[in-house]
Order: sequence, then structure tokens, then C-alpha cells
Amino acid sequence: MDTESRQQALAWMEFCKELGLSDFYRGKNEAAPALVEEQDVVETSLPMQDSATPASPAPIFDPIFDRQDDTPDMPRNSVNPYQPVVELVPTAALTPAQKPAALEAIRHDLGDCTRCPLCETRNKIVFGDGDANASLMFVGEGPGADEDEQGLPFVGRGGQLLNNMIGAMGLSRERVYIANIVKCRPPQNRVPEMNEANTCTPFLFRQIDAIRPKLLVALGATAATYLMAAKAPLGSLRGRVHDCRGTKLIVTYHPAYLLRDPRQKAEAWKDLQLAMQFLDLKAPAKPKG
Ligand code: SF4
Repeated sequence: MDTESRQQALAWMEFCKELGLSDFYRGKNEAAPALVEEQDVVETSLPMQDSATPASPAPIFDPIFDRQDDTPDMPRNSVNPYQPVVELVPTAALTPAQKPAALEAIRHDLGDCTRCPLCETRNKIVFGDGDANASLMFVGEGPGADEDEQGLPFVGRGGQLLNNMIGAMGLSRERVYIANIVKCRPPQNRVPEMNEANTCTPFLFRQIDAIRPKLLVALGATAATYLMAAKAPLGSLRGRVHDCRGTKLIVTYHPAYLLRDPRQKAEAWKDLQLAMQFLDLKAPAKPKG
């Protein structure tokens, strides 16, 4: 590692320590993300922070991750249960002009899908929404009631918060792409079961391959589990840049969790700042007065 890379890596580790993260792993060929000046980090406001609720350290317990579901930990010496039923090798990069048509083709292939039991209770399939040429793609867990009604991802209260998060990054919803692990609403918003997620994710992976964003953001533990094909506590995945299907991935809290525990918004903002560093984005200037 040359001197400049070493200094960059040390600065990045220092920044992670400031976020309260202490576990560092040496990744294969993983360059440290581009850094913004420290002043940007210090002076950037916390647009999602509720002033009445001071920031607290990253929780060890994540209600989304630790919800009771039927998802067992990965058994040793057996097939990975978090991999899709159809293994897809990432495809070659498309030109910007080819991407919208590629997404349309995936939607056409999905059809009026009845491949898993979630088809029985859904109202509308929520395929995904946004810019086919987006640099940033968010992946959530699955549609809720509002999304099931409208056929669009993240349009309820959680969606409004996600819009605010995107705006705080200096982007608009129209400039990113948003999808979920499963495209049909699980009854009572339960966690998707493994067979449901693994049946649906080949379509999500095709979407990721078509868009080939510079960065994926996994919203919550379920998204992280199926994107990374491994289950780990959310806290251990945050604050680092991971590899996923030939692109990069960071992990943060699901907006629904942030609505339930607004104290964690400051932690989520730190995750988004990491994404902004990676994408070389600057937060919009605060209005004067
Ligand atoms: S969740 Fe996915 S695989 Fe299951 S029915 Fe809906 S679109 Fe098909």
C-alpha cells in the first residue's frame, strides 16, 4: 500500500471510530472510499435528528433483525439458505440507453407472478421505481400496505422518511432506484420467508445487474441478509463498504425502524454520509436565516 493510500485508509478508520465502530476487516482489493473534508462531516447538520432525542450509540439489538421469524442461522456444511433459487452470474454492463429496456424486459419476464405464496395475498406487484441509470440504489425488505395499494416502493410514512434521507444526501427520489427483496406484500408485514425471498431475488439481482449502480444501500437486516447471502447482526455490517454482484454495498437501518426509534436517525445519517463519501456527494447547503 503506498503512502497516500495508507493515509486514506487511516483517515477512514479514524472516521469509523468516530462513528463508534471498532471492528475492521481487511477486504480483498477494497479501496478506501473517497473522503470529504472533515469539516463537511462536522458541519453537516443532522436533518433527520429529532432534537428532543439525543443520538445514542449503535444498538446491539436491532428490532428488525431480531423480529421473530422462521429464518434460522445458516447451518454449517449445507447449502446456503440465503441464496436465490436460481443462481445468476452478473451480466456484462449495459449502456445507459439499454438500461430502461432491460428493466422493462425483466418486468415482462416477471409477469403476473405466482412463483411464491405471497401472490395469494398481494394486491399489486411492487417491481421497483426510479432512474434506470441511477448511481445509487436502495433495497428494502418488502412492500407494506401503501405500497401494495399503489404498486410503488416506499410510498407510505417510511417512504416519506426515505425521501427525506435521499434529499439530505443532495439527491432526489427521481435520481435513485428503489426496490425490495420481495415484490409482493407479506401478510401483516411479516418478514419474508426464505423460500419467498429466494424465489423473488433473482428478479432483483437482474435489476441490479441491469442498472449496475455504483452503490447499493441495504435498508435493514433482511435486505442485507439476502443481498450478501449471509446473516449477521446489522451493527456488524454498518460502517463498511461491502461487495455485492460486482458493485458496492453499504448497510443501514430500515426507515420503518427509524420511525419506531427516531434516536437512531443520527446513526442512519452517519451511514448515509459514508455513502455520500463513496459517491462524492455533498449535502445541500442549509438555508440561511
Ligand atoms: S414475491 Fe416475488 S416471487 Fe413471490 S409472487 Fe411476488 S413477485 Fe413472484
